Amino acid sequence: GNEVRVQAINKITNRVPLSVKTPKPLSEIWGCDVFNLARMEESLSKNVFKTIKNTVQTGAALDTATADMVAAAMKEWALSKGVKFYSHIFYPMTNITAEKHDGFIITNSDGGAITEFTGSLLIKGEPDGSSFPNGSIRMTNAARGYTAWDPTSPAYIMHTDNSSTLMIPCVFMSWTGEALDKKIPLLRSNHAMNKAAQKVLALMGETNIATLNSSCGAEQEYFLVDSAFANSRPDLLLAGRTLFGASPAKGQQFDDHYFGAIPERVQVFMQDFEDQLYRLGIPAKTHHNEVAPGQFEIAPYFEAANVAADHQQLMMTLMKSTAKKHGFMCLLHEKPFAGVNGSGKHVNWSVGNATQGNLLDPGKTPHDNLNFLLFCGAVIRGVHLFGPLLRAVIASAANDHRLGANEAPPAILSVYLGDQLEKVYMDIKAGKLAMTTDGGLMDLGLPQILKFERDPGDRNRTSPFAFTGNRFEFRAVGSSQSVSGPLVAMNTMLADSLNWIADKLEAELKKKDDKATAVFAVLKEIMELHGNVVFGGNGYSPEWHKMAVEERGLKNLPTSAEAIPMLREESVRKLFESTGVLTRVELESRFEVYAEQYILSIEVEAKLVIDMAKTSIYPAAIHYLSEIAQTSSEMAKMDVKLDDTVAKAVAAEANAMMAAVGKLSAAIKQHDFATTEEHMNYCAHVIRDLMNEVRAHADALEMEVADELWPFPKYSEMLFIK
Ligand code: ADP
Ligand code: MG
Repeated sequence: GNEVRVQAINKITNRVPLSVKTPKPLSEIWGCDVFNLARMEESLSKNVFKTIKNTVQTGAALDTATADMVAAAMKEWALSKGVKFYSHIFYPMTNITAEKHDGFIITNSDGGAITEFTGSLLIKGEPDGSSFPNGSIRMTNAARGYTAWDPTSPAYIMHTDNSSTLMIPCVFMSWTGEALDKKIPLLRSNHAMNKAAQKVLALMGETNIATLNSSCGAEQEYFLVDSAFANSRPDLLLAGRTLFGASPAKGQQFDDHYFGAIPERVQVFMQDFEDQLYRLGIPAKTHHNEVAPGQFEIAPYFEAANVAADHQQLMMTLMKSTAKKHGFMCLLHEKPFAGVNGSGKHVNWSVGNATQGNLLDPGKTPHDNLNFLLFCGAVIRGVHLFGPLLRAVIASAANDHRLGANEAPPAILSVYLGDQLEKVYMDIKAGKLAMTTDGGLMDLGLPQILKFERDPGDRNRTSPFAFTGNRFEFRAVGSSQSVSGPLVAMNTMLADSLNWIADKLEAELKKKDDKATAVFAVLKEIMELHGNVVFGGNGYSPEWHKMAVEERGLKNLPTSAEAIPMLREESVRKLFESTGVLTRVELESRFEVYAEQYILSIEVEAKLVIDMAKTSIYPAAIHYLSEIAQTSSEMAKMDVKLDDTVAKAVAAEANAMMAAVGKLSAAIKQHDFATTEEHMNYCAHVIRDLMNEVRAHADALEMEVADELWPFPKYSEMLFIK
């Protein structure tokens, strides 16, 4: 046991940071590996460029002739940068990123080699659909899946040490056109939101309304552990989290890591990583230490949701590969270390366009205020009606460790508005707020125009869904998750609410042609029906958990086993169907894929727990016992009696651990379940409990067994040695 750890520590102590390259100026590297609009403008004729630009900005369909010309220009540009391969890159329903590589090269009739890349190759690729989980869609269709370029997300070049590949962001669908990925629903949800928002804005008297899009800025938390340690922890390698490990004497109780100095090796890693992001046109903006030792955060500046989602996936890939180069393992798991702060991904979200601006920004005029109050009201209604859906899209075996654990938002979805805005909505509900004849707000101590102070200090960190001045921040999202699921849920619930609002507003405007009166009437109804979801208090408190469920009628869905089945609720099916975002079959296939992944990841962990306990931890305990026994019998010959409390404690814990291992081994053999829901419940409650039971005894052994015999790097080593 110990030699491995000593070697690791020696290796780490002698590590030197990779040499720091003097960073090139941002202006020189920014977006240099991206086939963006500027590059297209350089290489395409005026007309072709106009067509593709319109597609990029509005999502309009692309004709074959334009696709051919774009493909030719893209190929020329890529070849000029030494690229020989291209790859369609797509996002299956799991959280991974998938690639399908091809060469540009084909042979001509003379046996010579030429390069070929046409519009149809750009638009259509055929990876084998059957190798990606596709739920029930697999049953109804042939295994074929197609990828097609999403022109609204730019192609880029990925460099590795010995090759460069042109990467083409794609959608992934079955041959009957069903969405097999996370991108198609995101594009559709934007479309649905745009359509509904146009209706509301038109009723509000807006003219010249540009296409609305959602925006996303995701704050990504992660851990870095030295690879010398990580490589001797099978749990980190295979499950991405520690399944064993006693709490260190120095935990995060001092909170001295947050905003502390960033260790040099980590700083060099960050610089290298951010350089690559800049080359790919990803606007990395802030980075800092996080709450736990060894934990960090990176947040790029916000972008259009679809591009932000692709960039987020790319960031996660690059974080892992770059960390490896620097001798670290990057952990994106939501809870790599028990008892230590977990990792989340705050998804900041807003909607807007070029003509009306950000509609979640209160704005500067009473008129802007009205639009804002409507859109914000639409969000309140959405979270109230579809809170369980929001909970379902962030459900995973990993995120279950974090949600509701008094460090992350609870598993109950509520909306935090801030004191000032909450008062505005409560006044609207009470009928106390109306518009004056000159268009100002008739208030009760409120200023004429709502001006909201951004007050970062006062933000409620315990809320899963918070208004933060000009956007909502969905804080319950897990660090390893794709942001697409949450964005799809938010856009779609907003579309539904805006459709509802459009109908109500139209009816109110028929009664009395006064916009302000109509808006306040609609908002009053929203608050009466859905105001229960607004909560500004402490989301961690047990009183809230009780009140939320008993008085407010909100759902508390503590584990994925309760949350994922929400995808099958009739209201959720209707939501997706009526907005055209997902058909019933597509939604059902998502339920199946997420449920299967949940069950699989717990089964993998359970097997690892059994394996590590039996083959490493138990032998360490026995080894220690045999040393004690041997010493003790030799001492007895000299008439010296050794105290036997340690030996007895070790023996008792080792026996208890093996008894729990026995129960767990028997439990995982059970495969006879009437429904998927029943199987998920079994994993959440029976398997997880038994895993915890094994762990409790193993962690107790770690505190008893001689340090030199312990087989795995300890928390104190992994978290503090850099
Ligand atoms: P914090 O929440 O820690 O104060 P920041 O102010 O840096 O963090 O913002 C967090 C994220 O929110 C960043 O990615 C930022 O670009 C993004 N963001 C800011 N404004 C908007 C907006 N209107 N819509 C979407 N995301 C936004
Ligand atoms: Mg934030």
